[in-house]
Amino acid sequence: MNLMNREKHYNTLNNYYLAKYGKKVAKVSLNAGLTCPNKDGKKGYGGCTYCSKEGAGDFAGDVNESLTLQFEHIKAIMNQKWKDTLYMPYLQANTNTYGEINKLKAIYDELLTLGPNVIGISISTRADCLGDDILILLKNLCSKTHVQVELGLQTSNEITAQLVNRNSTNEEFIKAVYDLKKLGIEVVVHIMNGLPNDTKEDMINTIKFLNNLPIDGIKIHSLCVLKNTRMGDGYLKKPFPILTLNEYVDIVVEQIGYLRDDIIIHRLSADFDPVDLIVPTWTIKKMVVMNEIDKKLRALNLYQGDYLKKGQSS
Ligand code: SF4
Repeated sequence: MNLMNREKHYNTLNNYYLAKYGKKVAKVSLNAGLTCPNKDGKKGYGGCTYCSKEGAGDFAGDVNESLTLQFEHIKAIMNQKWKDTLYMPYLQANTNTYGEINKLKAIYDELLTLGPNVIGISISTRADCLGDDILILLKNLCSKTHVQVELGLQTSNEITAQLVNRNSTNEEFIKAVYDLKKLGIEVVVHIMNGLPNDTKEDMINTIKFLNNLPIDGIKIHSLCVLKNTRMGDGYLKKPFPILTLNEYVDIVVEQIGYLRDDIIIHRLSADFDPVDLIVPTWTIKKMVVMNEIDKKLRALNLYQGDYLKKGQSS
């Protein structure tokens, strides 16, 4: 699906949902109270070094409430801003395919009862948490609703991945993408620009790595060093280079030029609670970041995937 125009030189999620459903679709971030195998010792301890205590779910609902209540509370707030909206509950915090299978089934089943304006379910997880039992559960879920799975890759450079304690391999990631696509599940991948050790070339290579896989969507964001994380503690003791806004914009624009033009871009800025941020402070002004990316794409007359068509780089 090509949704680009003179204003937006890439496929935005908003335009994708408008074309598909005729309405805005709002994602409602929920916290099912699950954990992560990279924290509880199954794969590792301490988690990815940048991971917040909420397990990358800083805007998810209150874990002390049921998923239904979390959904209703957040929906009521969103409804004040967008009157006629469709919704997609989003299991965001931690690893949402990791846990006892009946518990996971109960979680997914509860999301199926959330009402007529809910168009599907989005589940955030790790590539190494999609065993056969989970895939059967997801296949079953697919027969009832639209299922989207979000996978964290962050970088295709496995040395960097090791440095940030990702504790899962690119091979596991590739297998997960194909396993999910065989079930007809929409796959959205998270990548992070500015990780320690990653060069601009590594970040472009991450896009090229993903172009070879049948993914549907991507979230690109900058590394945000947060308080009370292992990376944050390390940064406060010994600061390391952080991308400037100009560097981030320059990298993202080139990544868009290389990104396959059927992939939907879900996000180009980071999502975090500003009170937790150490650096980079420019990430707080999301609209500025988005505008700078749009401005540069227009100035270069560059559209998503152009470098693949022209076989050239900037
Ligand atoms: S996989 Fe996700 S939830 Fe688990 S430690 Fe890494 S960022 Fe946190």
